Amino acid sequence: MHNQHLIESECPLTELKGVGPQTVLKLNDLGIHSLTDIVLHLPYRYEDESIVDINTAADGEKITVAGEVYSSPQLSYFGRSRSKTAFHMLVNQVAVRVEFFNQPYIKHQVVLGETVTVTGKWQRSKQIIQGSKFSATVTDSSDKALVPQYSLKGQLKPKQFQKLVAQALSLTDITPMIPDDLAAKYKLWDLKQAVETLHFPADDSSLKQAKRTFAFCELFLFQLKMRMLNMKEHQTGLAVGINYDIDAVKAFIETLPFELTEAQKKSVNEIFRDIKLPLRMNRLLQGDVGSGKTVVAAIAMYALMTAGYQSALMVPTEILAEQHAESLAALYKDSCRIALLTSSVKGRKRRLLLEQLAAGEIDMIVGTHALIQDEVRFNRLGLVITDEQHRFGVNQRKRLREKGEEANVLFMTATPIPRTLAISVFGEMDVTTIREMPKGRKPIITSWAKHEEMPIIYQRTADELKKGRQAYVICPLIEASEKLDVQNTVAVYEEFCRQFGAERVGLLHGRMSSEEKDAVMERFSRHEISILVSTTVVEVGVNVPNATMMIIIDAERFGLSTLHQLRGRVGRSDQQSYCLLISNPSTETGIERMQIMCQTTDGFVLSEKDLEMRGPGDFFGVKQSGLPDFKVADIVEDYRMLEVARDEAAAMILSGAIDRPENSGLKNRLQLELNTLEID
Ligand code: ADP
Ligand code: MG
Repeated sequence: MHNQHLIESECPLTELKGVGPQTVLKLNDLGIHSLTDIVLHLPYRYEDESIVDINTAADGEKITVAGEVYSSPQLSYFGRSRSKTAFHMLVNQVAVRVEFFNQPYIKHQVVLGETVTVTGKWQRSKQIIQGSKFSATVTDSSDKALVPQYSLKGQLKPKQFQKLVAQALSLTDITPMIPDDLAAKYKLWDLKQAVETLHFPADDSSLKQAKRTFAFCELFLFQLKMRMLNMKEHQTGLAVGINYDIDAVKAFIETLPFELTEAQKKSVNEIFRDIKLPLRMNRLLQGDVGSGKTVVAAIAMYALMTAGYQSALMVPTEILAEQHAESLAALYKDSCRIALLTSSVKGRKRRLLLEQLAAGEIDMIVGTHALIQDEVRFNRLGLVITDEQHRFGVNQRKRLREKGEEANVLFMTATPIPRTLAISVFGEMDVTTIREMPKGRKPIITSWAKHEEMPIIYQRTADELKKGRQAYVICPLIEASEKLDVQNTVAVYEEFCRQFGAERVGLLHGRMSSEEKDAVMERFSRHEISILVSTTVVEVGVNVPNATMMIIIDAERFGLSTLHQLRGRVGRSDQQSYCLLISNPSTETGIERMQIMCQTTDGFVLSEKDLEMRGPGDFFGVKQSGLPDFKVADIVEDYRMLEVARDEAAAMILSGAIDRPENSGLKNRLQLELNTLEID
């Protein structure tokens, strides 16, 4: 959601007094191009500068106190530019020493016998305040207690910016966003009052109220938008119930090399119930890595085929597409016409494939985002499945779905999505969860070792290989440098070659062509090599059940979800599997991550933790998730409010209240947002 639309008026910055071309440039640098932008450039934090009683202030706390100066300031320099200004003051009968570092000019403001205000860190045992802010006056204790902190990147002075905010507020119209009845029901303010208070809070309680109001506006607008988007989609979807041949499907299930788990059966049934109905299915299938989602997809696609419909399975990487195509072909034997489409399928072969697809001579197609190109036409597309769906943007998913007017949609993800996020991101989507692993799986044993313990790791790897098993070694992606990445991976590869012999070790990284990657993957899955050293390209979905050891180098560089995904590459058979995290973390978070990984193999627990530790943006990658970038609302913290906003948004649309004249402002803004979304 673009917050710009919370407020309408678009007034140029030069309307403001004292703003010339210089200041406009500085504001632009901060992403501010209009008065609206100024008004919505909210403080990221508030400093509490109300005067406290020093007798009750906690040690180490940042406090503001007032008192009388009783010793002349002493300024001393050390080095060329570093200095300390020290003086004593009497605060509530307590003698306190005040020290300011590198602010030599303060010396001239400190006058013996005057009453002054100081903000700084209180060191109780030494009776010292490490000053950060000095004022030669005493502010009224009720005045300006909360000082907003703006992110200004040194472009503007906070005081100067606040003046611009005040002016902009007086020149900007803020249309009411929340219908009166809701405002009354939830005790919310007017949006304008909320925005003003966010910039100029009188006290804690009004700030809290302003935040509540603003957050609700954001969530409410977002939920309204999701609702309207869904309605649009339902309107365009032809409602066709699919009459699959249940006996044929049952016969197919009989041919599978294993018995379905209860959870898999339940998933299949839910999908079947959906596709039988004359309504378009919109379902999320989530299940931990290795829980067996692929076979559920395979059964669904098979059912569609028996009714004369085509299915498409879209996956994020070529390797995964090939793996899926292969394992599906193995499941189907020769009962289905299945094809693979990636950017590596070229020339005549591609033309032929596209012709067959358009003519309905292909039942199922597996591919990467190559599937959403214009040239790809289906004859009768009835089911679209996207695997690891959070890796695709909202618009990519939409494009694929639009290739089949009546196509049912199934999203599969191995990153279990906390309920809070599922509601917010997927709104009206139905959710099926697989919480059961296929029988006979032993939980993966995870342990954490330091880099200096690599010799032990080599020994343990050798032991596994002796048992006829295989191992993955994963090296981290190094931010912003694919080159370093490759170097790092190659170095690890060479070390493993020295330890185990080059003929047993393979290398996989982002700089290799897809043919090269395939060749290596192929050799690993045929067990021609025993160790695969790789960057995170194997992260998603690959399936080599004989691999029982996952070694992750510099594991602290990965988020919990990624670590869990990587770990899920092993433990795919009835053999005991191991995950070894190699890491010397330098931060608390890093240590915590390693510990959590060793404690649990439950992807749901991990994803909740990950969300907690990193925030939803990072969790999904903002761009790909379609997650709105809220200014005040926090999807995790304000989860109750999100639910309320969701229910109220639904009620407003269903009751038709959205079309009432008093809500026309709100409706116009929604329309605007829905239209901008189409552009991609
Ligand atoms: P994911 O949910 O991570 O996509 P997969 O579909 O790749 O998991 O399945 C993981 C492995 O488990 C595959 O080797 C698959 O053949 C196997 N598998 C799936 N379902 C069962 C089952 N019911 N019993 C035994 N093995 C199964
Ligand atoms: Mg999978």
